[in-house]
Amino acid sequence: MPLALGLDLGGTNLRAAAIDAGSGALAAVRKVHHADRRPGAVVDAAARAVREAADAAGMTGFSAVGVGLAGQCLGSTGLVLNAPNLGWRDVPFGELLGRALGARVRVANDLSAAALGEHRFGAARGVEDAVLLFAGSGVGAGLVLGGRLHEGAGGVAGEVGHVKVRPRPGTAERRCGCGQLSCLEAYAGGHAIAARVREDRAAGRAPGLLGAPGGDPAGAGPAEVEAACAAGDRYAAALWEEVAELLGDAAANLVTLLNPSRLILGGGLLLGGTRLQALVRARLAARVSASAARSLVVVEAALGDDAGVVGAALLAV
Ligand SMILES: [Zn+2]
Repeated sequence: MPLALGLDLGGTNLRAAAIDAGSGALAAVRKVHHADRRPGAVVDAAARAVREAADAAGMTGFSAVGVGLAGQCLGSTGLVLNAPNLGWRDVPFGELLGRALGARVRVANDLSAAALGEHRFGAARGVEDAVLLFAGSGVGAGLVLGGRLHEGAGGVAGEVGHVKVRPRPGTAERRCGCGQLSCLEAYAGGHAIAARVREDRAAGRAPGLLGAPGGDPAGAGPAEVEAACAAGDRYAAALWEEVAELLGDAAANLVTLLNPSRLILGGGLLLGGTRLQALVRARLAARVSASAARSLVVVEAALGDDAGVVGAALLAV
């Protein structure tokens, strides 16, 4: 089968891969840490990694590259509107990388790319309508509707991390990285959870949370909350109940609105059969439209870290 080239671009690391477009298998991978986040430096590092992956896979030439990027992208133009992890606003990344490589470049949000990868080769293989709900350091979704990636009119569909939620009474209103108040991500994203735990520990509200083992005593994040919850800590259990209400409602709303046959759970907060995942599933079951739930199967993402780069390569096909 023909090989396709994909690039998964994060805030500090990028991964370029040549994949077999028929099976999704990775033929060659180049992973690069990019300390310099300026667009020119990232374009140089990305172009080098893509060329090396193509060479390593034995490709004699290429005309297209797909990119999945953590940020809001106008996919049709390759313009990155806003990528907080990279500190970019209105960067014509697709055009710059295209010029550097002498190839056509298609850019999409990383979760859109991951949803495409899961749809073709992973947890949503063979279904027409699938939603990927991701909860890691941030919260977002990728949508495949009618067998096609759905990116919306401006390329920013699926930004479920920025839908507005009402937390429990007594929980302070929190500002999101996007600048607005009361976004889901400001309560249920990993960075936000870590910030909240820091505040609660400083205020003596989380006596059972001791911080990361062997590390920074202030560094208690989602993994420590998950472990404390499993050990019976009441603060951790209450926090997970609250986060699960918000994530579970968001999942239920997505399913009620879009009626997918697969809801794919991804990201560190939801992968690996966590307690949080079980709570989110229970909340989803209680809150989703019963009619939409009839055709729904909830599964964990199958491709792991590879979903983004595999989906990115599919964008180029
Ligand atoms: Zn937001």
